[in-house]
Amino acid sequence: MMLRSDLAQVPLYAVEPADVPVDLSDNTSMWGPAPSALAAAQSMPAGGSLTRYPELYSASVKQAVARYLGVDPEMVVVGNGSDGVIDAAIRAVAAPGERLAYMAPTFGMIPVFARVNGLVPVAVPLLPSLALDVPALLAAEARVTFVCSPNNPTGHALARQDIEAVIDGAAGMVIVDEAYAEFAGTSVVELVRRSPRLLVTRTLSKAFGLAGLRVGYGIAQPELVRQIEKSRGPYAVTAASERAAVAALDGDVPWMRQQVQLAVEARQWLVDALRDRGLEPLPSAANFVLVPVADAESVALAMLAHGVSVRAFSRLPQLTPALVASAGAALRITVGPMNMQQAALDALDAVRS
Ligand SMILES: *Cc1c(COP(=O)(O)O)cnc(C)c1O
Repeated sequence: MMLRSDLAQVPLYAVEPADVPVDLSDNTSMWGPAPSALAAAQSMPAGGSLTRYPELYSASVKQAVARYLGVDPEMVVVGNGSDGVIDAAIRAVAAPGERLAYMAPTFGMIPVFARVNGLVPVAVPLLPSLALDVPALLAAEARVTFVCSPNNPTGHALARQDIEAVIDGAAGMVIVDEAYAEFAGTSVVELVRRSPRLLVTRTLSKAFGLAGLRVGYGIAQPELVRQIEKSRGPYAVTAASERAAVAALDGDVPWMRQQVQLAVEARQWLVDALRDRGLEPLPSAANFVLVPVADAESVALAMLAHGVSVRAFSRLPQLTPALVASAGAALRITVGPMNMQQAALDALDAVRS
């Protein structure tokens, strides 16, 4: 057979986007795209630019990220989404057969990226307090260790000292996924200067409202950046996406901060409303809330009939008492403008009554 047998176990990513009025299922921005980015994407310069290849490694985006975060452009690797950066980074440091350790639960693509690159994924459950199990992560002696803060799907931020302990003790590369960092207001990007094994990944897909552009980036020391760029390959980001990403990072940061403020207020309102209903949402530092609910899959399906899409999880580790009570089932609800959140609560009430 010509196909790789080890890929037979890897499922195709098949989360169906629901065609409903209120889609709170994927943590993208419910407040629209960054405006300068939208204008730039809609006004490609006339003439020959589309006949030529884009920048080899998105140098203009690296410079814009460097201005945004106060790092050197040589410390930035840009990718086709932060997914593209993570995938390339894994391949840059790990050979087939080596281990990738990751906190669980976390971003569902991580064990997939491990397998696709021939690595052995090692899930390390979070502690019941939702803290990292640092000794267990280090004991895996993995070539790649992945942590995510704020974490998807729980929403909680990890303790900085635990992240530092993983970076200081890990045998190989440590990826800290900060896709939701803008909503938390905290970051470990500055640790990159003192750790050659650290890669912090970020994205324009969430706080900047630009998931359709597929632009993400990583911050690491220049030597690791160059290695990741080799495995990523040239021309990974389109010319239109580069243009829009630079416009967003240079022109839309104040706009983004306003949207983040709206999201943080909406998150508190949603958490309070869920608590009023006797539910126990997990603490969130992101733009979504995970709320344990028994039979979440059927609840989410029934909510669809009321025009609201949320993401259901059915087999999460039973870390908190509420997750024990729900047998590991939970709904992940993206925060949004008040009318959308009210629609979600109305649908939930209708389904649960
Ligand atoms: C949404 C998300 C990303 C972003 O991926 P992109 O490829 O940049 O769109 C990365 N990590 C986590 C945990 C996410 O939830």
